[in-house]
Amino acid sequence: MNFQAQRERMVDQQIVRRGVRNRHVLDAMRKIPREQFVADELREFAYEDSPLPIAAGQTISQPYIVALMMDAAEICPADRVMEIGAGSGYAAAVAGAVASRVYAIERHAELTALANGRLQRLGYTNVEVRTGDGTAGWAEAAPFDVILAAAGGPSVPEVLLKQLAPGGRLVMPVGDSRRKQHLIKVTRRGQDDYEQEDLGPVLFVPLIGEHGWAAQEGDAPAVVEKAYQERDGDAAVIQIRRAAEPLPALNGYAPDDDAFGRAFDRFSSAQVVLLGESTHGTSEFYRARAAITRRLVEAHGFNIVAVEADWPDAAAIDRYIRHRSSESDPEVVFQRFPTWMWRNTDVDDFVHWLRDHNATRDADHQVGFHGLDLYSLNRSIRAVIDYLDRVDPETAGIARERYSCLTPWARDPAGYGRMALNKGYAVCEEAVTDMLRELLERRLEFVGDQNDYLDAEQNARLVRSAEAYYRAMYYGSAESWNLRDTHMFEILRQLLAARGQDAKAVVWAHNSHIGDARHTEMGQLREELNLGQLCRQHLPGPVALIGFGTHTGTVAAASNWDSPMKVMEVRPSLEGSYERACHQAGIGRFLLDMREDEDRTELREALMGPRLERFIGVIYRPDTERFSHYAEAVLPQQFDAFVWFDTSRAVEALPGKSRPGVPETYPFGL
Ligand code: SAH
Repeated sequence: MNFQAQRERMVDQQIVRRGVRNRHVLDAMRKIPREQFVADELREFAYEDSPLPIAAGQTISQPYIVALMMDAAEICPADRVMEIGAGSGYAAAVAGAVASRVYAIERHAELTALANGRLQRLGYTNVEVRTGDGTAGWAEAAPFDVILAAAGGPSVPEVLLKQLAPGGRLVMPVGDSRRKQHLIKVTRRGQDDYEQEDLGPVLFVPLIGEHGWAAQEGDAPAVVEKAYQERDGDAAVIQIRRAAEPLPALNGYAPDDDAFGRAFDRFSSAQVVLLGESTHGTSEFYRARAAITRRLVEAHGFNIVAVEADWPDAAAIDRYIRHRSSESDPEVVFQRFPTWMWRNTDVDDFVHWLRDHNATRDADHQVGFHGLDLYSLNRSIRAVIDYLDRVDPETAGIARERYSCLTPWARDPAGYGRMALNKGYAVCEEAVTDMLRELLERRLEFVGDQNDYLDAEQNARLVRSAEAYYRAMYYGSAESWNLRDTHMFEILRQLLAARGQDAKAVVWAHNSHIGDARHTEMGQLREELNLGQLCRQHLPGPVALIGFGTHTGTVAAASNWDSPMKVMEVRPSLEGSYERACHQAGIGRFLLDMREDEDRTELREALMGPRLERFIGVIYRPDTERFSHYAEAVLPQQFDAFVWFDTSRAVEALPGKSRPGVPETYPFGL
């Protein structure tokens, strides 16, 4: 593994881009081997944009936070620095590389020993870590030019202020809850003259000590399985067992076989029902969502199915299930990695059911099938131009011209983002925005089928979002994630608007898109939002967010991006996770309704967590499962309901061969 390159990237992408300018800090972070400050099995994650677990249930801070604090403290070479909460020793090493002397205090002797060992090995002679309560400071070594606290307390201890040199700066997370703080900077202007600034919301582990919080159970952050283990066999299991409603088996599409779907009738008053999945390759999740969708369509008038797939692929399915001919040759769809996510036997069955359902209905009463995702830049460009070629060749010429800005990047849209970034401006933004605006303004002029217009409009929207998405990729993951989920929400809103008063939608997407991000690490640590959250916040009508989970079984996934699909064993869920509690409840298949209600107060309280939750996408890495696939969440706030399959099996990818009896227009190209 090339750590030097990762280090450079970390500094450029996570730190410089976010505005940290202190040369000394940037230079130090380009040099210090952060991978040596974490356990061996976590080395490959050492340069990720996040905190990581270290011993004693603590964390090594996110690189950006280390840089931000030192930048705020205006640390420079002559400074004497005190750090409270040395943890891994990484921040102390950065400070040591910049300043003249560093005094670091750590509460856990185990961590002090590890940190001192690392610092010694790396040749530091100006950094000392000792075990103790840092809230009292280090009187013998005072005064300090810089005091940094790597853990959050209820207030800035008076004793620490007294240990600041004139002109000295203290940076510390402060908050009245143990789990949420604001980063505060105090500058000592004179003997009793302190100036205070608020640098914004942050999330640190608690500062435990005389002038901090009292030690108590549950102090350790989520990354500590041990704390959870002790709590296990707990109220959550008992409450789940009490509240879980066993579900019938998932069979097929026989007319009288709708018991599974009926269990979800209670959500039918929602305008949008969002159905999640905790992997992209579990058959039960697809079949359950198909059964629920079928019931919502047949019995409750739902008329839109919107899925986490690219618009043009889904549009081909939509034409097929609505018995509309395609203007161009039927395209073989879902060819981009991960193909099995949609090209699988469960989706195939569902598509055929949709087609049958629509067969006897007029266009206004048919169900539509649509894609919310934005990874089809090229095909969407082509679709807009093809459409205009048919209805307005002159405008097609203008579209060609405008989109030509992106054509050189057809094969490598990420390269476009890089180039735009280097030039320092959004090279094609205006062209793609103008194209969308023109389509919208002139919609009434275009002749022909309204569905074709809507298709072109969404493709133009996709091109506009994708242009911004590929640029945002270089500003860090939160921005591009947010753009993607905002795009999904925008498309969903367009779909609802196009159907008018009667619009009711079912959405299929991963739990990470559907479970309200404000109640997971995504929103709380990384400022990420998602589709489920946006629906709750901005749709006028009620919505239902339904998550899915499993304990063990098999899953279709790849080891790396673009690698072949494999059927892998899903490891049993971790102690202390929501999944483990569901497993311990001992019911193979159930629905857990968690909506606020008098009868459910105890259930909700017992589940309030936060606890770990498993997220498997198209990549599954069982060896590093804890860090690749688990994150903290508060289940009853994240979802309205949770659907459980204790054991589950992998989806079956569709074969490439043709099948007798399937119409030639069938977009799966079988
Ligand atoms: N700078 C560290 C961050 C460690 S997390 C790094 O990058 O690795 C914060 C640390 O503060 C934890 O290790 C925790 O044990 C420690 N801590 C909490 N309260 C403390 C106190 N009163 N005195 C000293 N250390 C404390």
